[in-house]
Amino acid sequence: MKRKPIIGISSSTLTMENEFKRAHVGQGYIDSVIIGGGIPLIIPFNTNTSTTVEQIKHVDGLILSGGHDVFPLVYGEEPKKNLKEIHPERDYFDITLLKAAMELNKPIFGICRGLQIINAALGGTLHQDISLSEGTFIKHTQKTAGRFPTHTIIVEKDSFLEDIYGMENVVNSYHHQSINKLAPGFKITAMSKDNIIEGIEKIDENNFIIGVQWHPELMCETDEFSKKLFQKFIDFVQKNSETL
Ligand code: MN
Repeated sequence: MKRKPIIGISSSTLTMENEFKRAHVGQGYIDSVIIGGGIPLIIPFNTNTSTTVEQIKHVDGLILSGGHDVFPLVYGEEPKKNLKEIHPERDYFDITLLKAAMELNKPIFGICRGLQIINAALGGTLHQDISLSEGTFIKHTQKTAGRFPTHTIIVEKDSFLEDIYGMENVVNSYHHQSINKLAPGFKITAMSKDNIIEGIEKIDENNFIIGVQWHPELMCETDEFSKKLFQKFIDFVQKNSETL
């Protein structure tokens, strides 16, 4: 019997009221990997580079999870006033995971901040707050994002997303930053109606990187499209792991 693929999920730091720190990921990522046919493994946040590189060797694919704002110096900008909470050490951790996964040809799926850190790490830039994106008018930070799709996406033809979402669909939205300049070699796979980049990919013989700005992991149990997105990614990880 085929072994189910192991999907590493990048974790973050949660600081408790007593200032004790905990490594954590949202439960949705874990449940979604299981629903999608994979075995979830939390990759604990740490600041030891060689450990982080070693962690990637033990998984077949990587999910970069959501969370803090990316520190603007990562993409060469000064912090602006409407930047929210940052975690520069986590940026470094995520970038180390990303580059180690790319080096070892392991598929990568970035969600929300995950998409943003991929873009920032590989030569793109971000809007530190969506209000800085020209012509934006949609509310992209919906507190109900866990349960409901709230805005439309227009999907790019022949993209990884197309056969899941069709040419137009609706997704949830819980982000206040977005991609500004796209990283070289990537293509846009989904846009909102106010021209916010909602999906990206870089899929070629050497790379398999996809990213979405919304939170499919929060709707995976109720939304067939979110479920299919995890299934399709994890199917790809399975096939890829057999070739490594
Ligand atoms: Mn959005």
